[in-house]
Amino acid sequence: MIITIDGPAGSGKSSAARALAQRLGFDYLDTGAMYRAVALASLRAGVAPDDLTGLERLLRHLRLEIGPGRVILDGEDVSSLIRAPDVTARASELAVIGLVRRYLAEQQRALGQGRNLVCEGRDQGTVVFPDAACKFFLQADPTERARRRQRELAQRGKTLSLEEVLQAQNERDRRDAERDLAPMMPAADAVVIDTTHLTLEEVVDRLVQEVAARTGAKGPAQDSGARA
Ligand code: C5P
Repeated sequence: MIITIDGPAGSGKSSAARALAQRLGFDYLDTGAMYRAVALASLRAGVAPDDLTGLERLLRHLRLEIGPGRVILDGEDVSSLIRAPDVTARASELAVIGLVRRYLAEQQRALGQGRNLVCEGRDQGTVVFPDAACKFFLQADPTERARRRQRELAQRGKTLSLEEVLQAQNERDRRDAERDLAPMMPAADAVVIDTTHLTLEEVVDRLVQEVAARTGAKGPAQDSGARA
């Protein structure tokens, strides 16, 4: 069974998706991490976003493994490196390119094959898994989202002003929402949740209730943890 959680950066979807997967005993897939890994690879190889031939070659040789909370690129654990601001910006640039989206969507579908999976991203409910059993779209006030992102960056030792974070976020939101291919938007049958004034626990409770109501899945009594 597939459950999708889409939404913009800072909407709380990653934490919620991870926690939901844990509650249900499902695996968890962070598709943004896949875009980020391709972005890091392109930065390292010096392949510009408009160099389609270079990108095609890069993707052909890419070895990407998505493990439990880990991203392995060509054998190297890049889980932290892919969170750097330059990688974030490049991921958003590459996400408008059909070649990249098709490549990753295909991998995501393969990863979902025959599994119980909570997938989070921008296009999981609309494009990658249109037949998902349950779809969510999380959103929140932009300033609150920027505050959350600022806190997350600070935990990684990166200090940025709220204005800087907000500006980068606005740029990313705009690109994600306005692109022709798989623009970020709620699927017609998605449950939309505004998380601005909700705690993570409240969001997850709401997700669990919806999943139970729609699919009957309540998950195991206890679980050993989410896996990717
Ligand atoms: O979710 P995260 O911020 O890690 O995603 C990084 C970038 O990857 C996003 O800004 C977005 O442009 C792109 N992305 C996407 N489709 C997805 C997941 C991420 O376009 N399913």
